[in-house]
Amino acid sequence: MRDVPDSHPRAVSLRIRNAIVEGVEMGITSPHGLLAHGRGEAFDYLIGEKTQPFAKRAIKAAAALLLTAKHPVISVNGNAAALVPVELVRLSKVIPAPLEVNIFHASKKREKNIKTLLQKKGAENILMPGNAVLEYIDHNRRFCNREGICKADVVFVPLEDGDRCEALLKMGKKVITVDLNPMSRTAQKANITIVDNIVRALPLLVKETGQLKKRKRVQWKKIIRNYNNKAVLKQALYRIKR
Ligand code: ATP
Ligand code: MG
Repeated sequence: MRDVPDSHPRAVSLRIRNAIVEGVEMGITSPHGLLAHGRGEAFDYLIGEKTQPFAKRAIKAAAALLLTAKHPVISVNGNAAALVPVELVRLSKVIPAPLEVNIFHASKKREKNIKTLLQKKGAENILMPGNAVLEYIDHNRRFCNREGICKADVVFVPLEDGDRCEALLKMGKKVITVDLNPMSRTAQKANITIVDNIVRALPLLVKETGQLKKRKRVQWKKIIRNYNNKAVLKQALYRIKR
């Protein structure tokens, strides 16, 4: 169903699904990305398909951490590019931080398509993987950019796989993720986990970063100090079990 009528009870969910399917057709998203999306959808259903208070808390802390970082980097995979290309570009400009194309299933063509899409949406600072490798990992995503993820102190990796999240943490980086499944390895291991659909979370993160940017560094630090990711994950699980 491509033209989803507003009257359809699951219109929003179906439109998001269409965006992922179009991502596959445009050579941006991997077919495997459809399965990852399906897993996400199930958890979205369980959290009520709304941005919950635990996600809002995480978004605020994420904005503060991105602003305090020396070398923040935004990692972009095929699902994120299909769902929120404009917001990723906006986030990159507001922090500011480079976007780094980084996909799980190796494909130079798809990497290039993602770069072209981001450029079309106005991105100015896009890094490509390949001139350096991450430690502690042995698949395609060990490739990264020397000036990007390899050098970063804070990495924003929405919809990330658990292995790579762990590798980034072992390398001493701070990790912020968006993940609808509070039980995934990424959600459990990240420093800040935004348990929300990326489609809802990204516009809020852009807005929050813009607002916090007007405040002082000490205030960003205080937000980070007072943030407790374990508590946020617990609240997300509680919402699911309710
Ligand atoms: P992990 O490797 O962290 O244990 P996993 O193997 O279950 O997780 P991956 O495919 O590696 O899953 O990671 C993708 C994650 O992104 C999943 O937890 C999935 O629920 C989540 N996800 C998928 N689509 C969205 C979306 N639109 N918004 C937020 N999260 C999403
Ligand atoms: Mg995984």
